[in-house]
Amino acid sequence: MKQQTMLIPTLRSVGEEAAMASHRLMLRAGLIRQLAAGVYTYLPLAYRSLRKVEQVVREEMDRIGAQELLMPAMNPAELWRETGRWDTYGPELVTLGDRHERDFLLGPTHEEVITDLMRNEVNSYKKLPMALYQIQTKFRDERRPRSGLLRGREFLMKDAYSFHADAETLDETYRAMIEAYKRIFTRLGLDFRAVEADSGAIGGKENHEFMVLSDSGEDTLALCGSCDYAANIETAQVGEPEGGWAAADISRVPELKKIPTPKASTIRDVARLLDRQPAELIKSLLFIADDKPVLVLVRGDHEANEVKVKQALDARTCELADDETVRRVTGASTGFAGPVALKEDVKVVADLAVKGLADAVIGANETDAHFIHAAPGRDFGVDVWTDVRTVEEGDTCPQCGGMIRFARGIEVGHVFKLGTRYSEDMKANFLNATGKEQPFIMGCYGIGISRILAAIVEQHHDENGITWPSGAAPYPIHLIAVNVKDEAQKKLAEDLYEQLRQGGVEVLFDDRQERAGVKFKDADLIGIPLRITVGKRAADGIVEYKFRRSGESGELAAEELLGKLS
Ligand code: ATP
Ligand code: MG
Ligand code: MG
Ligand code: MG
Repeated sequence: MKQQTMLIPTLRSVGEEAAMASHRLMLRAGLIRQLAAGVYTYLPLAYRSLRKVEQVVREEMDRIGAQELLMPAMNPAELWRETGRWDTYGPELVTLGDRHERDFLLGPTHEEVITDLMRNEVNSYKKLPMALYQIQTKFRDERRPRSGLLRGREFLMKDAYSFHADAETLDETYRAMIEAYKRIFTRLGLDFRAVEADSGAIGGKENHEFMVLSDSGEDTLALCGSCDYAANIETAQVGEPEGGWAAADISRVPELKKIPTPKASTIRDVARLLDRQPAELIKSLLFIADDKPVLVLVRGDHEANEVKVKQALDARTCELADDETVRRVTGASTGFAGPVALKEDVKVVADLAVKGLADAVIGANETDAHFIHAAPGRDFGVDVWTDVRTVEEGDTCPQCGGMIRFARGIEVGHVFKLGTRYSEDMKANFLNATGKEQPFIMGCYGIGISRILAAIVEQHHDENGITWPSGAAPYPIHLIAVNVKDEAQKKLAEDLYEQLRQGGVEVLFDDRQERAGVKFKDADLIGIPLRITVGKRAADGIVEYKFRRSGESGELAAEELLGKLS
């Protein structure tokens, strides 16, 4: 492509509000432009990179047998009511109404839509296991969309979903996905770690996040210096119960109540279920006030609780109530000392409460049955809950005894074993080998396609601009004619351009009538891996090559170059 007529509006500087390196560089290199907060146009160079990333993801998804489809972004609210998420997803959900005043939303994720498709179209175990994926624009009204493509309100995601008749094949697909993800991020030149993670609002059990290591990341990772232990500190805990969380013997706790997961009910209903007074329910619950999920708790009597609160906040399931709201809703003087009496008209988002918080308190739960506001130590005894707290730097690794260090990470992928969380709510059943109806066992697997672009730039840049890894570069070669008014230079550069193109090599050709300094500055900023400069020695058929990342450079004959590249 000839640069003279290509839309690459580079900038020498950008405003202070773009704080992240990737945000600044993507604006400066003419890759993106903001239309509204968290809403961006991908200009031609960025779109080329985006398609390269997509291509890598497609190839690796196809390789493990996942099938590509495309679902609608516009979803009817009914589906989301079936799983309760219309009410519980929280303020990140982008909603709209049609002319008949029917409720719709713009999908932030697609468990409901795909589960609906499967319950309608697949009814026999003979079709299973099956994995489907799409690459699609997602919508989340993020609270702070200020980091460029790292956190958009409209962004591109690859989301895959798998359906199974048994836990074994889910295991297999889950492992295959993890391997595919490792190949994807490796091919894209990213330094990453797969970490144990918590599941946030999506629900489910086992899950792993893929984190690109970067000081600008929002997540903190606990990594072992001696073995492969790696966890998001939201999850990482020392002093696990013997045999893991699921092994905690809850039958020893007569007081503790097991409840069916209520959808949304009043504080009264939940209190009745638990044989407690409403006033006692202050611990570990999330509330809705004024139709907005509000977190009123935080009795901070246990560190794990605080971590979960942060996680719930991050997972956009709720907002921390400000003091004024807490006072209004609870009648308490402060939200950080409890217990306090709740006003009866406060709506409890029990599902979120137990998913987001009680999980932390007693660990693994059964589907649709949870134990809420249990207190470690009191309810479980110290032999099971030995010194449970989150990992700190310098701690001993729970796996090998090595030393834990912290690192920051950008979440670029997340894989979950969902189990029957969605298929049960939506009655998505199939006939198993014995002719019995059974809900699909599910997994889901996301990758932030547009976020990857920014994560690549976070990891690959220097003081002069981007240094694209070859797997994601918009073009592999940047051909520069230093002075297009010089006949020899012009001719050699144009010949090279044509021949490279005919040889199937993608080339960005700087044919602009600009000063050499401007061209080189732009080239460094844009960051294409290999630069070929046609300059003073053009008459002898000699060009200069320079690798953007290493700076390694030299001269060679144009003929030789063509031989090497084709
Ligand atoms: P985060 O913790 O950063 O908010 P998430 O855990 O909410 O992300 P998931 O629901 O796990 O995100 O979605 C799958 C993937 O989509 C994430 O791993 C991430 O790469 C990407 N993603 C999520 N939110 C955004 C966003 N606002 N902008 C760009 N990519 C995003
Ligand atoms: Mg996350
Ligand atoms: Mg999020
Ligand atoms: Mg996630």
